[in-house]
Formats: sequence, structure tokens, C-alpha cells
Amino acid sequence: MAGMVTEIQRFVLNDGPGIRTTVFLKGCNMRCAWCHNPETIRGGRDLHYYERNCIGCFKCIYVCPSKAHKKIDGVHRFFLNLCVRCGKCAKICYADAMVMSGEDMSVEQVMEQVIQDKPYYDDSHGGVTLSGGEVLCQQDFALELVEACHAQGIHVGIETNLYKPMDQARALLSQVDLIMADFKLFDDEAHRQWTGVGNETIKENLRLLDDLGVPYIIRTPVIPGVNDNEDEIAAIAGYLQPFRNMMYYELLAFNPLGAPKYESLSLANPFTDARPLLKTRMQELAAAARAAGIKTRTDN
Ligand code: SF4
Ligand code: SF4
Repeated sequence: MAGMVTEIQRFVLNDGPGIRTTVFLKGCNMRCAWCHNPETIRGGRDLHYYERNCIGCFKCIYVCPSKAHKKIDGVHRFFLNLCVRCGKCAKICYADAMVMSGEDMSVEQVMEQVIQDKPYYDDSHGGVTLSGGEVLCQQDFALELVEACHAQGIHVGIETNLYKPMDQARALLSQVDLIMADFKLFDDEAHRQWTGVGNETIKENLRLLDDLGVPYIIRTPVIPGVNDNEDEIAAIAGYLQPFRNMMYYELLAFNPLGAPKYESLSLANPFTDARPLLKTRMQELAAAARAAGIKTRTDN
């Protein structure tokens, strides 16, 4: 089976325990306004244009079947609306001004890369993390990857938004070794405003995680002006308080590194000027969660 993969990152240290390889799957069923991987949102391939890398060689003009590249007043111009995402310009653009995101890969092709670092996983109690996008959007492919990893004795973690009914998501979630699930906002209406969907399915799934028998971590990305206040964090923590098998709750500092990707994809970025919260502020918010009686960590 083939899946649409955005990227495979090796030697990752912050996507679960030990040294890991993170496999980013393309396509997401939510639209978080602060997404730091905007190239993973759409299910199909995407073309990035990094204008400042362009050296004006104009080779792209000759390979493009849809005339999306033009020379105007001696300068290269790119028209995204004409692009059919064939990838030809990215192949010949040695300046990395044109870059494709998204590649159809078989389970075997992914495993070829994953298996190379098996000794590091073994030494560090690491493994593979499936991320996105949203992994549940390519559930069958992900399940085959999990089985292939397990056949090699490789631990598999999953990062998920849990936005899929549990009767459909259980087949995958019950097979992984670690679930890292997001709970972004407590209020349903605010959740809808900032992510495009309500949070009833997510809340219901969070309640059902204990029954899966898989260790899990619940995480909140802390976004300036969205949920960076004690009331919000305390409300989430209070909801999580009865959960028996949760390893811990984690607050993740807003990551502004996706900004150039928004520009390259011609997407509006409402968080262009936002900065990560200071460590001291993250600790204050963690204290609000601990006051609700749950074990809490921050990632900065
Ligand atoms: S091939 Fe790349 S560097 Fe050359 S003109 Fe096109 S975008 Fe610019
Ligand atoms: S991806 Fe294909 S269609 Fe799109 S600009 Fe490049 S060559 Fe043209």
C-alpha cells in the first residue's frame, strides 16, 4: 500500500522517548490557525516557492506544462493559480526556489529509511513516531507501517488530534505503543473558531483512551492570544484529572518556525508576529495545571 508522505525526519529527540524517526503523513481534518506544518494540511502534493532563493536561471519556464513560470521585465514570476503540481520545475530548480511537498511512498520505501537507525532506537529506547498532518486521515497506511515496525521490533508512537470517532480510530490507536494526543481548547465554540471543528469527538475520545490499554500523553500547544491563560489550562487539566492511565500532561510552547512555509505556499498566516511564551510564563501555566492535581511538563 502507498501513502502520501510529506517528510521523514531522522534523529528526532522531541517526538517521544529516545532517538526517533518521525514520519509526517500528508492531509489533515482540522485547520488550526497556528499550524507550524502548513504543507501537511492538504491531502495532495504542494509546491513551495521560496522567492528569495531564485537565481533567475529561467530553466523552470521550459519544463512547466502550464506556463506557471514567466519572465516579466527580466525577472522570474510564478503564478500558483496555473500550477498543476507536476513537480517538474522542482526537479530542475537547483537553487531550491521551487520545492515539492508530498510523495507517494510504499510501506517498504518508508521502512527502508526507518530501519537504518534501528541500532539508535535500541540503544536509546526510541523508535518511530507517526505524525502529520493527521495520521488518522491515512489510517490504513499507518496501520501497515505500525505492523512493519513491530515486525522489526521497533516502538511506534503516534501524534494525533483524535478527531475521528473512536469506533473508526480504535483499529490504529490500539496497535501503537504510545499515543500523544492534543487537547487544544476546552470550550467547543472557541475550538471551532480556532481549529475549524468542535471538540465533542475529541473530548469523548479522550475519555475512552484509558480503555485502550496504550500509554498516552495529552498535550496542549500554548498559543499567544488563544489559550495562554490560567483559566483555559485549568479547565483542560480539570477535565483530565480523573484519567487513570495518562502518563502526564504536557504544555508545548508555540512554534513560529512555520512562517516561511506559509509565505512559500501563498497562505495567510495570522500568527506572523507571534512569539513563543517565555519559559517563566510556561511554568506559571504548568502550575495552574498541577493545581488541578495532574502531573504536568513543559517542552521548553
Ligand atoms: S528554475 Fe528556480 S532558480 Fe531558476 S528561475 Fe526558476 S525558480 Fe528561479
Ligand atoms: S509543479 Fe509543474 S505545473 Fe506547477 S509550476 Fe512546476 S512545472 Fe509548472
